[in-house]
Amino acid sequence: QSAFGAVQKAPEDPLFGLMAAYRADKDPKKVDLGIGAYRDNNAVPWILPVVKKADDILHSDPDLNHEYLPIAGLADFTSASQKLIFGADSPAIQEKRVASLQTISGTGANHLGGLFLSRFYNPSTSEGKTIYLSSPTWANHNQIFSNVHLPIKNYPYFSKDTKGLDFDGMIGTLKSAPEGSIILLHACAHNPTGVDPTQDQWKQIATVMKQRQQFPFFDCAYQGFASGSLSTDNWAIRHFVEQGFELLVAQSYAKNFGLYGERAGCFHFVTSPGSHASETTASVASQLAILQRSEISNPPAYGARVASTVLNNPQLFSEWEGDLRTMSGRIIEMRQALRAKLEEMQTPGKWNHITDQIGMFSFTGLSESQVLALREKYHVYMTKNGRISMAGLNTNNVDYFAKAVDAVVR
Ligand code: PLP
Repeated sequence: QSAFGAVQKAPEDPLFGLMAAYRADKDPKKVDLGIGAYRDNNAVPWILPVVKKADDILHSDPDLNHEYLPIAGLADFTSASQKLIFGADSPAIQEKRVASLQTISGTGANHLGGLFLSRFYNPSTSEGKTIYLSSPTWANHNQIFSNVHLPIKNYPYFSKDTKGLDFDGMIGTLKSAPEGSIILLHACAHNPTGVDPTQDQWKQIATVMKQRQQFPFFDCAYQGFASGSLSTDNWAIRHFVEQGFELLVAQSYAKNFGLYGERAGCFHFVTSPGSHASETTASVASQLAILQRSEISNPPAYGARVASTVLNNPQLFSEWEGDLRTMSGRIIEMRQALRAKLEEMQTPGKWNHITDQIGMFSFTGLSESQVLALREKYHVYMTKNGRISMAGLNTNNVDYFAKAVDAVVR
């Protein structure tokens, strides 16, 4: 008799289950719009040319070995990551108010942040120790934060009517959430909706959160990938730092470097400005190191070495910016092509949201039954909530997809 006989079979991860179903489908017309990973115009993974160069540089280094990294990770990588996300001239960096640790990509950074908050966050009110997630959000957020026993609530985010931001709903909930509440914000290219606040809306969000002494936790998985510009995509984070917030950032290099499986990411804690800020930062860094040591001991080296090679070399850095424009540009073109085709066919409904939304994903507004019909009749694979990964579209399949949508919508 097993001591685990009472363990219930858990449902398969919906996204990875979808990937398996796609792989098993033998139809040559099949289209994968599920997983959020970049594909080139031939629907295959793309190794960024600058990453190939960094690979070559690393492989030709006779001193490269497989030793452990320090607990906090590769120092050249974490310091370059700070500059990338906060801006090289950030007062927070100059005043030593940032503690950074290399993590297991963005997921690990979210987890470390959650664990840190659950151990050490001491808000002004006891109800404040709740994390508010956007509705909807990246599904893994729910699991990550419930694993560390942080109570979870939601704030409205997506308007089904406009297929844009439900700004009034969001602000209303922030205004009524207890003082000190933790608010998880997607820095750019919101997953799954592709809907971001405007800069003016971000300013209003910051104002309300300041009044309510709420604590921002930014999840940034798409810097440079959304707009093609690194400094447009980190604007919200820089604004909150300028406003003097104490905050957390989970930074992923999966999408913007195409380093998905290498698990390169970074976690940052920023202390608000004040007389003891650098001491507080150092104390927090020491506690984060203990958490990290017990969980992963030290992070994996290779992906961080690749990113660090690029981030710390001005020539390679500008080539990387070119690669980012290639990826974001192709996605923007696919948005335009999809919208144009749907409008040309006069497919029922409005389709402006396809080009209004940004980043890897689009929330199409297709219903679950339409999604299932697309899968069964047309071999198109997307998540049940109607989200498509724009990277799965290309000049060879965008018309086919548009026609399939047209057929299931009518
Ligand atoms: N956060 C969001 C919003 C994401 O969409 C993703 C990836 O899909 C991640 C975090 C983390 O991904 P990774 O752990 O691969 O960096």
